[in-house]
Amino acid sequence: MKKGFIPIRPDEFADFIFEECPDLNRAEIVEEILYAKSEYKKGKRCDCGEEIWVAGAALAGIACFKCITGQDEPYEDFEIEGCCEPPGGVGEKNNKKQERPNRRRRPRR
Ligand SMILES: [Zn+2]
Repeated sequence: MKKGFIPIRPDEFADFIFEECPDLNRAEIVEEILYAKSEYKKGKRCDCGEEIWVAGAALAGIACFKCITGQDEPYEDFEIEGCCEPPGGVGEKNNKKQERPNRRRRPRR
């Protein structure tokens, strides 16, 4: 299970990268993201055995977060929507219910 990622749509992420690196080809960025996503969905893993970090793999090649960044855990890093869960696992359909604590304060009489 991947933790610490912020889900982002492929086109949003492409915009984000394109803003950072305007010399890149936006269409190619999208292609790379979708390619990395499809590899992830097929169950492909990093050489070290970890799950692929799709957002990073789009830029750095198929690998996991740790191998790409050298950091142990992501902290508010982006990950492509639908790739935050294990492939073939919970999936996108089973969105978490937004549970709001429903505390009503009743004035004491
Ligand atoms: Zn790795």
